[in-house]
Amino acid sequence: MRILISNDDGIYSPGIIALAKVASRFGEVRIVAPDVEQSSMSHAITASRPLRYRRIRLGDFEAYRVDGTPADCVALGTHHWHVDLVLSGINLGLNLGNSCWHSGTLAAAKQAALLGVRGIAFSTSVSENKEPDFGKLDPYVAKVIDMLLKEDTMRLVNVNLPEKPRGIRWTRQSVRQYDGKVAPSKDPMGRPIFWFTVIPLQGAEEGTDRWAVEHNWVSVTPLRLDLTDEKELGRALALHHTPAIGAKSLADGQRNDKAASSRTREHESSVRTKKKRREKS
Ligand code: MN
Repeated sequence: MRILISNDDGIYSPGIIALAKVASRFGEVRIVAPDVEQSSMSHAITASRPLRYRRIRLGDFEAYRVDGTPADCVALGTHHWHVDLVLSGINLGLNLGNSCWHSGTLAAAKQAALLGVRGIAFSTSVSENKEPDFGKLDPYVAKVIDMLLKEDTMRLVNVNLPEKPRGIRWTRQSVRQYDGKVAPSKDPMGRPIFWFTVIPLQGAEEGTDRWAVEHNWVSVTPLRLDLTDEKELGRALALHHTPAIGAKSLADGQRNDKAASSRTREHESSVRTKKKRREKS
């Protein structure tokens, strides 16, 4: 099995080597990661300039540092190498609940899923000025990978590890509101600066990713790419105020297609007539 490893903390983060070491027990490993930190870049891609990479040696691993985002790295990595699995992380900082929208770690796994490759994101908590004890997390990361490899239908999974795990739990994403607060301050020259902070407002609901990590469980959340709000869509369709995608609208569509093609024919014949006129004059 070929495993591509990426992250958003940058290729020199200790978390990526920790993940690569565990992954190497499951298959052949290659690291493709951003050259600098890309945390909170979410699913950004570099569309206005080309990408470059440099091959480096990272421990025992073949590695490539890319001047792009986590999503760029997965796109490049899977372009150059046929890959069976993409692992992202281990991020220095949790990616729980609404943070999933901002996470570059999760975006690397999402990019894999978009390309038809399984993607798993790993994040862990960091206490102040202390690097996570990856030795302690190692058996849990291995256990999760082993567990998820057997679950072939799960294409995108978000995994969060507390500092001292006591086991593994399946969870759902916590969707409670967060404050998204902007904290104003001043720079040394007295000019205004702003910090955008994202702090959960309420305690976590039981069974969610945040709840699990708060109770020292490793949280494993299967995610999907389809963001459709099924309940609202169902309600909207039931109101019949908007065109429904169904048998009736399909018939309407066909009628519209016929009307459109007859309009096209009219247009084409009028162009021909005008052309003839121009040729005559
Ligand atoms: Mn990060």
